[in-house]
Amino acid sequence: MTDVCSAKGCQAPAAWELQWNNPKLHTPDRRKIWLACDDHRQSLSDFLGARGFLKDVVSHR
Ligand SMILES: [Zn+2]
Repeated sequence: MTDVCSAKGCQAPAAWELQWNNPKLHTPDRRKIWLACDDHRQSLSDFLGARGFLKDVVSHR
């Protein structure tokens, strides 16, 4: 089973893990994970970054 990108409608295999936290919903040490392919890493990171939610981006295997 291959993990796929979290972007809407995208079926590409995930290459990246976007680790994020919404301080209004989550305790500070909690991490939510979005998976992203190479094509969507930037747009998903920008979405989370613009809201101040993005904590880390690491490679996914
Ligand atoms: Zn994608």
